[in-house]
Amino acid sequence: MSHFAIVCRKCGKVLENAYCAFCEHCANALLVTQYREKEFSGGRGEGAWKFGWLPVHSPGFEQPAPAVYRSEGFARKIGVPELYICFCGYWPEKGAHLQTCTFKEFEAAVVIQNAKENGMPGLVVASAGNTARAFAHLSSVSGFPAIIVVPSMCLPEMWYLDEDTSGAVPTIAVSDGDYSDSISLARNISLVAGMPFEGGVKNIAKRDGLGIAMLESVNAMGMLPRHYFQAVGSGAGAIAAWEMAERFLKDGRFGDTLPALHLAQNLPFAPMAKAYWRKSRELSPADTDFSLIGETTTRVLSNRYPAYGVMGGVFDALEAAGGAMYGVTNDEVYAAMDLFEETEGIDLVPAAGVAAAALIQAVKNAAVKKGKVGQDGPVLLNITGGGERRLKRDMAVKRVSPLLISKNASESEMEKLIRHAVR
Ligand SMILES: *Cc1c(COP(=O)(O)O)cnc(C)c1O
Repeated sequence: MSHFAIVCRKCGKVLENAYCAFCEHCANALLVTQYREKEFSGGRGEGAWKFGWLPVHSPGFEQPAPAVYRSEGFARKIGVPELYICFCGYWPEKGAHLQTCTFKEFEAAVVIQNAKENGMPGLVVASAGNTARAFAHLSSVSGFPAIIVVPSMCLPEMWYLDEDTSGAVPTIAVSDGDYSDSISLARNISLVAGMPFEGGVKNIAKRDGLGIAMLESVNAMGMLPRHYFQAVGSGAGAIAAWEMAERFLKDGRFGDTLPALHLAQNLPFAPMAKAYWRKSRELSPADTDFSLIGETTTRVLSNRYPAYGVMGGVFDALEAAGGAMYGVTNDEVYAAMDLFEETEGIDLVPAAGVAAAALIQAVKNAAVKKGKVGQDGPVLLNITGGGERRLKRDMAVKRVSPLLISKNASESEMEKLIRHAVR
């Protein structure tokens, strides 16, 4: 018997053999993993694999966990007495060894291992930036085939580690298309290659993988935080934090209150923040206005179809746990990145700067309103990515050299490319 089942949040139906599925009669509800063990365990193996609450059995490759520590410099500077940092990046001096420098690595590691155990032959991943880099790296580390499809306009900001064998991780760039063209091309490639399309937020392995940040944080803190801060794009990471916190509540030894969720986006493109400020479950067309994306510094957060209104999504998480949505300007992002680096001694990716800036806002507002953030229990700041500059001192990186294809490619052109790519 497996150590977990997959359950529909809405109707409670238990699904067997459901890989990346929705419940068949509650089409708009996320499935969640139900682990048979109610008790948290964090001593099963090495790195991120030591946790019992992961949908994998016997991983055959290494995956480091994040480094969780109590902040001194940044905490004192912004006035939070008990601040913990979950550092998901590269900072070997602190024990953080994520070689692609973001928490997307946890997603990639768990999704790949779970897909392997489900008998999948490989995965097709349509993404840009951090997700693509994480899957390329973990495909190389695990030997599990993955095809990465990216819009060519994202190539300039992408890098791979030199030591990852690029031949084993084919990256296909859509020469004449944008992000949505690359997603539809990836779907076609997935059909032609006979490899499933990475399932996004509805894949329980993705959310439970991202939940490693909460697992390691509670493991290190010995209790649930009172407040949790994170930058959100698709919403998967925040939903994951909530789902893991629910498991800790059921265990009973780590506290009896869900951490309040403080979720941040980069203005002016902040669809979930804008909808939640209206207390609306629906995103309006103005919320997802594509033309605003160019004005933000954090493309990784600019998701137009986040898991927000779906049952069990970000809206429900906020309603269940309490908390708030924050909008952060570019200037606030840069200021927070600088302050964090000055006080803690490590560089952040801009998305992590968004979360740090939200915490600064929350503390200021709390001071004005005599509110509570920082005064009523430990605060956890999820630094979802950092140490890229630090990594480049230790390791060689290279530009991605993709195989180019047109968005209008015929099936035989795709077949030819895939034969060439997957050798
Ligand atoms: C993807 C990403 C996020 C947002 O996570 P979601 O699960 O998409 O909401 C935050 N920070 C970094 C560094 C990311 O790469």
